[in-house]
Amino acid sequence: MAESDIYEELREKLNLFPVRVPRTKELMEMLKVVYTPEEAEFLAHFSAPLQNPETIDQIVKKTGKPREKIQEIIEGLVSRGLLYRFKSSDGTIYYTLPPIVPGFDLYYFSSGRDSDEKRKAAKLFDKYFTDSLGVEMGASNYPWARVMPSEKTITVDKEISADLIILPFEKMSEFIKTSRCIAVINCSCRTIRKCNHPLETCLVFGAVADFMVENGYGHYLSVEQALELLEKMEEAGLVHNTMNIQARPTFICSCCSCACIILRNLVELHNPRAFAKSNFLPVMDDEICTKCKKCVNICPTHARVYHASHDNEPERILFLEERCIGCGLCAYHCSNGATKLVKVRDQIPEKTPAEAFVRVEAERIH
Ligand code: SF4
Ligand code: SF4
Repeated sequence: MAESDIYEELREKLNLFPVRVPRTKELMEMLKVVYTPEEAEFLAHFSAPLQNPETIDQIVKKTGKPREKIQEIIEGLVSRGLLYRFKSSDGTIYYTLPPIVPGFDLYYFSSGRDSDEKRKAAKLFDKYFTDSLGVEMGASNYPWARVMPSEKTITVDKEISADLIILPFEKMSEFIKTSRCIAVINCSCRTIRKCNHPLETCLVFGAVADFMVENGYGHYLSVEQALELLEKMEEAGLVHNTMNIQARPTFICSCCSCACIILRNLVELHNPRAFAKSNFLPVMDDEICTKCKKCVNICPTHARVYHASHDNEPERILFLEERCIGCGLCAYHCSNGATKLVKVRDQIPEKTPAEAFVRVEAERIH
């Protein structure tokens, strides 16, 4: 088979995931930078996404290639985050092809290992995100990602939300306290596009945590350390994002609008379906507000706007609700308690990644 056909077959396989992978010059160039022709051919014939993961015995049988050769290809891919490996409860090792997002971006780029290959791939990925991938990441009315509110800022306000209780999927601490293991890895987005925000910020859980630590991409954290890290991220003005599901997600990112593809998709590419908003909104007490503008400066979506006094009108802090994603950073950074975050709706996400996948497809608009 011609080399270009091999990479096209790999693209077509990656294109079967919820976040589509349209063919562009940059994408095809990036695939050639990252995968050898042998690796591309190997992955192109992997099981269809989100179906059965495969054991090495199954792969050997399917391909008819010597076991040693398959082992060599697998090790090369796993060590670079291009093939995901996990152990089931009975100890069997399985392999699956990760999607481009969230998967390839997270596993391949967060390794933070600087090389000519990584730098070249990062440049091509960034251009691909701006020109094509961003639109695909928000192509459904059911977004695959969701904002997690700053938990510390949530206030139960009976007047506003008498019937609404804070549900487990809305609390990051719930995921963290009940996870078998937690690891922290470098933010893949800030590896691709460098900025001044902290780099070691993304939490991964369970099997993904094991995978990243085994590959030398991250290190385990205790529950206390993970909770402390989340708070430091809020202090740094970062927005927590995760998968739009009720079950424990595989990751919690802490995003900035200068580098992170989830937040940039909304703020820079103006994609309204970039991610689901949280069920919370900030409420401001104008009597207490000192108009210090901290909330205006920290808000990643410009939902808080300072309006100077004019024509005998006092200065004001305006709130543009349609821009608000319910992250709670304004409340976190309001030092005199004039802003609090309250629950205002009860949008319940799908339970599992598989159910979310079906919903993303069902509500796909292009
Ligand atoms: S941070 Fe608080 S006190 Fe300062 S302007 Fe915003 S709401 Fe007012
Ligand atoms: S106003 Fe801005 S900072 Fe506050 S919750 Fe909304 S998006 Fe977040």
